[in-house]
Amino acid sequence: MRRTADVVVVGGGVIGCAVARELARRGARTIVVERGEVGAEATRAAAGMVAPQAESSGPGPLLRLGIASRERYAAWTEALAAESGVDVEYRTDGIVYAALTAADVRVLAARARWQRAAGLRVERLAHPRRHVPALGPQVRMALHFPDDHRVNNERLATALVVAARRAGVAVLERTPVAAVRARRGKVTGVDTGAGPVDAPVVVNAAGAWAGRLGLPPGVAPPPVFPVRGQIIVLRGGLEVVPRPLYSLRGYVVPRVDGRVLAGSTLEDAGYEKRVTAGAAADILAAACAMVPRLAGLTLDTAYAGLRPATPDHRPIIGAAPDLDGLVHATGHYRSGILLAPITAEAIADVVMDGRTALPVAAMRPGRFARRRRR
Ligand SMILES: Cc1cc2nc3c(=O)[nH]c(=O)nc-3n(C[C@H](O)[C@H](O)[C@H](O)COP(=O)(O)OP(=O)(O)OC[C@H]3O[C@@H](n4cnc5c(N)ncnc54)[C@H](O)[C@@H]3O)c2cc1C
Repeated sequence: MRRTADVVVVGGGVIGCAVARELARRGARTIVVERGEVGAEATRAAAGMVAPQAESSGPGPLLRLGIASRERYAAWTEALAAESGVDVEYRTDGIVYAALTAADVRVLAARARWQRAAGLRVERLAHPRRHVPALGPQVRMALHFPDDHRVNNERLATALVVAARRAGVAVLERTPVAAVRARRGKVTGVDTGAGPVDAPVVVNAAGAWAGRLGLPPGVAPPPVFPVRGQIIVLRGGLEVVPRPLYSLRGYVVPRVDGRVLAGSTLEDAGYEKRVTAGAAADILAAACAMVPRLAGLTLDTAYAGLRPATPDHRPIIGAAPDLDGLVHATGHYRSGILLAPITAEAIADVVMDGRTALPVAAMRPGRFARRRRR
């Protein structure tokens, strides 16, 4: 069957669904084509932190983009709840960051200093155990990032796809996109497992697979590669970890339903999504070093996901320099949940108006082409 649309979005993760919903709200006839099930890849594997400050090791354009996206989160998730009827469990109780060694204390003290100098709120906790009573004896010092938040990323994916469909988006699941078609330097659509879709614009939101999407000859694929992350899920410990807790070796994140997620790894394992015994042991050791009582919780499940990484760890957001109508929304690496609202807005601006005033200049696809020419 032959379909037509104004925009085809390849990939139904948090980025593809957020982009499609925003485009439909602005009047574009939009089709999402997802090879498997929507939200089932990196989006489902994430910890759901909306945490540009805790995750940042230095100032720069990525931090600025993250903070701008975080500022949108409350209104965005409220709108999604109204549109979809799904509560995405957005919580704003901040993040506690624990130092377990003298070296950790120095790293965190430096982070607090540069973030305060940048005008961001960071508190050094005089009594960390008032925030997380079960903190273990190894914890020497702790920071609180009161403006870093969290969301249930599984529910977010559901809310986004329901909201996108209600806004008029057609979502094709179990339908791989084999290739982007073009004629005379302009996109004409995509070839899918269920036939062609004709469209003048294609958004590449294929996550860790974005560089593998079939493109016309001479068009550079975005330099995206997979970085595996594993998560161990415990059950029954909300009183043990009432709020997200980080150290330099891992994190634990509570969920409203009583699960506690412990993560994670940064691994070059190709496209293999296995959970490994060694990583599970490391993740649990890092979690129990912060909160020894976690050792008594029930082991529920474990999974792994593939983060879409780029050479400079910044996402790729904007029009491809070498093919009219091809737009990239990928490479969100460790921050795709955080960056979804601002990415959706920026991509919808680019598609509908040809440009955006949002701070995505440092994320433009063409930056890698220049680097290669040097
Ligand atoms: C363990 C872990 C923890 C994380 N924690 C956080 C966190 O706390 N906060 C945060 O902000 N981020 C976090 N992330 C990162 C975040 O999950 C990703 O940045 C984000 O999910 C990327 O979204 P995406 O839509 O680009 O990719 P995905 O969710 O991977 O979606 C891409 C989709 O494209 C589809 N696809 C690929 N190729 C094709 C094709 N040819 N045709 C059709 N469909 C195709 C795939 O099937 C997939 O569904 C974490 C990631 C991991 C792995």
